[in-house]
Amino acid sequence: MNITAAVTRAVRSPMSLETLELEAPRDDEILVRVVATGVCHTDIAMRDQAFPVPQPVVLGHEGAGVVAQVGSVITSVVPGDHVVMSYNSCGTCPSCVASAATYCYDFFGRNFAAARPDGTTPISNGSGTIHGNFFGQSSFADFALCNERNVVKVSKDVPLELLGPLACGVQTGAGAVLNAFKIARGESFAVFGAGSVGLSAVMAAAAAGASPIIAVDLLESRLALARELGATHTVNPSKVNPAEEIVRLTGAGVDFALEATGIPPVIRQAVESLAPRGVCGILGAAPAGSEMTLDVLHLMTAGRTLRGIVEGDANPKAFIPLLIDLYRDGRFPFDRLIRYYPFAKLNDAIEDAESGRVVKAVVRMSHAT
Ligand SMILES: [Zn+2]
Ligand SMILES: [Zn+2]
Repeated sequence: MNITAAVTRAVRSPMSLETLELEAPRDDEILVRVVATGVCHTDIAMRDQAFPVPQPVVLGHEGAGVVAQVGSVITSVVPGDHVVMSYNSCGTCPSCVASAATYCYDFFGRNFAAARPDGTTPISNGSGTIHGNFFGQSSFADFALCNERNVVKVSKDVPLELLGPLACGVQTGAGAVLNAFKIARGESFAVFGAGSVGLSAVMAAAAAGASPIIAVDLLESRLALARELGATHTVNPSKVNPAEEIVRLTGAGVDFALEATGIPPVIRQAVESLAPRGVCGILGAAPAGSEMTLDVLHLMTAGRTLRGIVEGDANPKAFIPLLIDLYRDGRFPFDRLIRYYPFAKLNDAIEDAESGRVVKAVVRMSHAT
């Protein structure tokens, strides 16, 4: 079938909306009519080749839409279901078997290879191959193919166009707090970086009853929004050393710190903000090969932990419905992060996401209206 999709052909260059050919779903694939897709910083990083995702490629990995057609072995969804498309995983490696699919041994292959596991791509333009299956979807398009592993059926009583960001950015921040840290009422929390991921973490920490909740960011507008969403304190690192300020505010540091910038010196600050036995999670992706320094005695002598977190340790089929329940209860107002753009304005949405003018850009496909 013909689809309209945004093709990425070069680093730091606009994506072009093109008419392409999408294969019919295979037996294990699901065709989704995409309603809206969030812009994640990973899309921008892949356009700019932070990882060697092959180009030309259709990016987009926070897709929400309606199931249009299912392959013969698909059992979890039927045409007409509302779904979001999350990260993909193999289902058979030790991590997947242990219900820890965010650490799938083939996470890179299933999400960044921009091809099916057999090396094929379902997208072409008549004269050549266009890489697809990015994050098992390539949803900067009005139709996308996904899989049983990464499709998540969602309730029809919430606006579908809102839900794409739950598939990656929002799930990443909220999941770090609720799944990886399992923050309990009264435990203290700091987040470094108050973008869509960091602010999702703030909302989740507030929903869990964490206290205090400290947000660190250079942008005063982001800090103001963080306070509205549940941060009890905010710190601007252009004015003070944030680790020292967090230790001063809390007496001994925080129980949990989340690093959402991927900037090595900021990771160090996040670790230095920890109380004894505190845990710091890294979920900002630094460029490949990045290194960092730490004070070894500070980490070791107080039993502090530093760990990586991918996609908020979330099993999307369980966690995304849970976030929707919290949203419906008014305890997780992630809609406040979102600004919509028409699909034709995708490059404006990306530019505004890059500059920080918008927290979470979402593009709506033309057939959505
Ligand atoms: Zn796996
Ligand atoms: Zn993402």
